[in-house]
Amino acid sequence: MTPDTKSRAIAPGNWLGMMGGGQLGRMFCHAAQSLGYHVCVLDPAADGPAGSVADRQIVAAYDDGQALRELARLCAAITTEFENVPAASLELLAALRPVRPAAAAVAAAQDRLREKAFVLSCGVPVAPHAPVTSTDELAAVDPSLFPGILKTVRLGYDGKGQRAVADAAALVAAWRDLGAQPCVLEKRLALRRELSVLIARGADGACAIFPVNENEHGHGILSVTLMPARISPRQAERARAIAGAIAARLDYVGVLCVEMFELPDGELLVNEMAPRPHNSGHATIDACATSQFSQQARVLAGLPLGDCSLLTPAVMLNLLGDLWFDGAGRERVPAFEQVLAVPGACLHLYGKEQARPGRKMGHVTVLGATLDVAMARAAAVAGLLGMELPAALAGIAPVAGGGSGGQP
Ligand code: ADP
Ligand code: MG
Repeated sequence: MTPDTKSRAIAPGNWLGMMGGGQLGRMFCHAAQSLGYHVCVLDPAADGPAGSVADRQIVAAYDDGQALRELARLCAAITTEFENVPAASLELLAALRPVRPAAAAVAAAQDRLREKAFVLSCGVPVAPHAPVTSTDELAAVDPSLFPGILKTVRLGYDGKGQRAVADAAALVAAWRDLGAQPCVLEKRLALRRELSVLIARGADGACAIFPVNENEHGHGILSVTLMPARISPRQAERARAIAGAIAARLDYVGVLCVEMFELPDGELLVNEMAPRPHNSGHATIDACATSQFSQQARVLAGLPLGDCSLLTPAVMLNLLGDLWFDGAGRERVPAFEQVLAVPGACLHLYGKEQARPGRKMGHVTVLGATLDVAMARAAAVAGLLGMELPAALAGIAPVAGGGSGGQP
């Protein structure tokens, strides 16, 4: 390390700041603390997943100027766990401390129309779409976009703020139902697969790109991720190159997730981006040499990026609050003891007190020497938890034992 690089890095023992106190903030705390940093979280909820893990929490609204200045006083650099932090707050912080990613990069992911225009400007295709921000635009929509999905331009996540629309009449009703707010109509595409790529990019432009994830969603929420995706090395290189081009064009500093659609003919489109670690990257904690959260801490502190290599194939299962209720709607504790007896199963719970259907409560990453082994074990875990079996695991014989003492 040159003395120059050394002087720019934030030394362990200093404080790092996190806007947001959810599970992504919690897992960032774990990673940053293991590198020797203290973490201060700013979140309006006192009892969030990150608050109990952070060294300190400032309980305040994201646009509370006094609280933001307090965060900047304490912390040497600040990051975020969600894209809807008000841009003005990130700008206020950036005037006082390094903020990674920058407000402009976060803003690019806050607005679906801006995001699509930006991706197209990188020479990367997106789904056919049209803005629906006025009654004129509503009337002028190209009929070739039906059947489509109407999505709010801002603040959508986990399939929220979306309506399936079959035709022009349904579009009018759906737009009203969404409050006649700015929306985008996207053509519903036949997908061969959904993929995502996580990339970490340092302030010096150095990049570390994780193996490609293959994702399956249920009701708009991620249900399972396979790592690595079952695609050719050439297709994986294409996906990684798209993520690299987008990160470079944004002059991005931090961890970025690029969600993609693979069409039946193999074409890759970008669906959306997240300017932060992502649910589809959680398997990196147990399966990669460096996790997405550790990369986030490294970039923030100005440290060298870690090795993204896959140590072992993995399947990540999301644990939604539905699993905390039996068929009669009575609350129960899922069968975690049995799950933990499955070789390669790594349980991560986010410490949320209240389970609700659709709420992300935790995840299980299941490791295996091959992806087939990880999938067979994941099928066993899904069965033990009473999960609706994701299509990716359908027809796979569950294997709950392994005789390898829990090693992959
Ligand atoms: P969110 O912000 O809620 O993640 P997305 O735009 O990623 O919103 O949509 C959630 C999921 O809905 C996607 O992962 C995909 O499964 C499905 N989906 C979204 N847009 C399309 C589309 N144009 N065609 C087919 N499926 C889609
Ligand atoms: Mg998405």
